[in-house]
Amino acid sequence: MAFEGLAERLQATFDKMKGRGKVSEADVKEMMREVRLALLEADVNFKVVKKFVNDVKERAVGQEVMKSLTPGQQVIKVVNEELTKLMGEEQSKIALAQKPPTVVMMVGLQGAGKTTTTGKLANFLRKKNNRKPLMAAADIYRPAAIDQLETLGKQLSMPVFSLGDQVNPVDIATGAVNQAKEEHHDYVLIDTAGRLHVDEDLMGELQRIKEAVQPDEILLVVDAMTGQDAVNVAESFNEQLDLTGIVLTKLDGDTRGGAALSVKAVTGTPIKFAGMGEKIDQLEPFHPERMASRILGMGDVLSLIEKAQTNVDEERAKELEKKMRTAELTFDDFLEQLEQVRNMGPLDELLAMIPGANKKALKNVQVDESQIGRVEAIVRSMTSHEKQQPSVINASRKRRIAKGSGTSIQDVNRLLKQFEDMKKMMKQMTNMQGKKKGKGGFQ
Ligand code: GDP
Repeated sequence: MAFEGLAERLQATFDKMKGRGKVSEADVKEMMREVRLALLEADVNFKVVKKFVNDVKERAVGQEVMKSLTPGQQVIKVVNEELTKLMGEEQSKIALAQKPPTVVMMVGLQGAGKTTTTGKLANFLRKKNNRKPLMAAADIYRPAAIDQLETLGKQLSMPVFSLGDQVNPVDIATGAVNQAKEEHHDYVLIDTAGRLHVDEDLMGELQRIKEAVQPDEILLVVDAMTGQDAVNVAESFNEQLDLTGIVLTKLDGDTRGGAALSVKAVTGTPIKFAGMGEKIDQLEPFHPERMASRILGMGDVLSLIEKAQTNVDEERAKELEKKMRTAELTFDDFLEQLEQVRNMGPLDELLAMIPGANKKALKNVQVDESQIGRVEAIVRSMTSHEKQQPSVINASRKRRIAKGSGTSIQDVNRLLKQFEDMKKMMKQMTNMQGKKKGKGGFQ
């Protein structure tokens, strides 16, 4: 989970302060000493840490905090605001050229996730903004990079411009932009070549492509897990190419957060997106404020709502809600709900966005995805009649369902019982609501 280690340390530090009615200057100093250590251990750039700690201290020992009724909470608020500032304050969106196509150069070192991110970004632009991107395969050096992009294109049913690996990348890039103009694409995403290290050849080639296609965006893809190395890479690329944005990949596996917290402050280039997994839809716009809240265990309800909005059909959700209220829920509805939740991503990732759901809390919840898989398999092994009317499921049907789903009769029994309990509970809730209306409240 992103920032897990850092979040845990900071939250432990702040838990001591939370309920305090009085906070002395010495308390703030002590706390900031711990924050400083936590940030350094998270591999945040030391200059950034120094400035951050000073800024927070200055505000925290000032009037606005000491004189408030809840100084403990106020200090955390200041830290939250300063963390947000560190990561760029406002969300920084991808450009949209006045005259299409918007040309985006994807740059970065090998293995950072450039090709994957090109596919993810194309998918994002189409899904969220209804755009029609063209991807261009200009990484002619890494074996299989072109195939990889073409496979992504097929998977997404999106076009990929390619001239093979024997053509100059500058010609590939200009060819792609010309084709995008002819075919009225609104974005061209150029997957350029990477190297193992920053070198002159690479920068020379990227500069020539830049010169030729005059991109609206140059996005650097860096691996968040490499911490300060990622920041150094970003500095070099920025000096040579004048980046417009950064995509931090593999944030899902970055427990420390050093790159995320320092790269904007060091380079002045905003983080525009974060890669949160290997799958094609695991790219998120980077919201500094929401990230800061996640780090401090305040949850990220807004991202959760957005995820729900893009993955859940509103009309169906209303229908389901009605069915729940009238306790007419069938196994078909149940299955549909499971799928919708699944589409939103791994469950532990979703839970992490809920306020207060820090690691400690999550440990007690133990999300077992295989358990959900088992439930799904059981429901899928039922006939439509059984799904609509579970009461017909007798012993021999149970045997058949268990066999078909590779589970045991006990598993089937357990699910049927849970389902019945759920329906009963809904009925009770509906009855209670009815009484409440009738009597004007219940004790
Ligand atoms: P490139 O050499 O920069 O084009 O790198 P690739 O696109 O081939 O990616 C390198 C590896 O990183 C692949 O195994 C990707 O699946 C993986 N990867 C890319 N982005 C992410 C991410 O956000 N999270 C995780 N966990 N893996 C990622």
